[in-house]
Amino acid sequence: MKIIDILNGETPSLSFEVFPPKTSDKYESVSKAVAEISKLSPSYISVTYGAGGGTSDYTARIAQEVTTYGVTSLAHLSCISSTKEQVSSQLECLKSLGIENILALRGDIPKGFNKSELEFRYAYELVDKIKAVGDFCIGGACYPEVHPESESAEKDLEYLKIKVDHGCNFLTTQMFFDNDIFYRFVEKANATGISVPIVPGIMPITAYSQIERMVMISGNELPKNFMELISKYENDPISLKKVGIEYAINQAINIYESGFNAVHIYSMNKYDVAKEIQENLRDLIK
Ligand code: FAD
Repeated sequence: MKIIDILNGETPSLSFEVFPPKTSDKYESVSKAVAEISKLSPSYISVTYGAGGGTSDYTARIAQEVTTYGVTSLAHLSCISSTKEQVSSQLECLKSLGIENILALRGDIPKGFNKSELEFRYAYELVDKIKAVGDFCIGGACYPEVHPESESAEKDLEYLKIKVDHGCNFLTTQMFFDNDIFYRFVEKANATGISVPIVPGIMPITAYSQIERMVMISGNELPKNFMELISKYENDPISLKKVGIEYAINQAINIYESGFNAVHIYSMNKYDVAKEIQENLRDLIK
C-alpha cells in the first residue's frame, strides 16, 4: 500500500522505524525484531539506510521482509555517496521486491568528499530519479529545528518546497522534543505553500548515552525541561527508560489531540519500546 493513502485515510497512523544490520551475523536479530514489531500491526515500518550505503542490500531485504507480514514498508534511500548507476540499480532492486514507498534522502556528506565529483548534491535530484524509475510513493525529510547546514530557517523551507515540488508525496520530520516547535514548523511550511502531509518523528530516549548522539544528529540542544527530567535518572537506567518512553507517549498524545493524524516513532529495533508506546496510544488510533 502507498503511504500517502494511509496518511490520507480516516484512521490515525502510528508507524515505527527499524535499522538494518551492519553485518550478516546481526541479520537474524534484526529480522526477529521486525517480525515482533510487525505483530503490533503498525501503519507502516520504515527501514533506514546506512550512511554511505554500506547496508543498502539489507535495507531492501528487511523492507521486503516487513511486507511478508502484511505490513507496509518504507525503504530509506540516500544518494550523496552513490553514482547515478548505483542508485538506478538500487531502485530496480526495490521495484523488483515490490517495495512501493521510498524515503528520498541526500545523506550526510562524507568527510573528505570532493563536492564537484558528486553525482547527486541534494535529495530533490534523487526524487527526480525515483520518479523516472517507477510509480513509487516518495517521502522526504524535513527539519523543524532547521537542517544543521542551512544558512537560515527561511532558506531551508524554500529548498524544502523545491523538494516537495519535485515529487515528494509526504514528509517526515527530524526528531524534536518540544511539540510547539513542530506545530510552528507546520504552520510556516503551509504558509510557504507546502501542503503534503508532514509526519512528526518522535524519538523515545531509553538510555542516557543516547542524548549526546541526539544532539549531534539533530544539531540542536534538547529542551531544558526535558534535560532536567532525564538528568534526574542519569544513574538509574530503568527509571530513565520508563520516563523517556512516557515523554514520547505524551508527545504523541498531544500531537493526535491537536488534530494531527500521524506519528512516526524512532523505535530503532526495540520491540518492547514499540509495544509499550502502541499500547498506550491504542485508544487514539482506532
Ligand atoms: P536535502 O533535502 O538535500 O537538504 C540538505 C541540505 O541542503 C539542507 O541544508 C537544505 O536546506 C539544503 N538544500 C536542499 N535543497 C537545496 C537546493 N536546491 N539548493 C541549495 N541548498 C539546498 N540519513 C541516512 O544516511 N540514512 C537514513 O536512513 C536517514 N533517514 C532519515 C530520516 C529522517 C526522517 C530524517 C529527518 C533524516 C534522515 N537521515 C538519514 C539524515 C539525512 O540524510 C541528513 O539529515 C542529510 O544531511 C540531509 O538529507 P536531506 O534528504 O534532508 O537533504
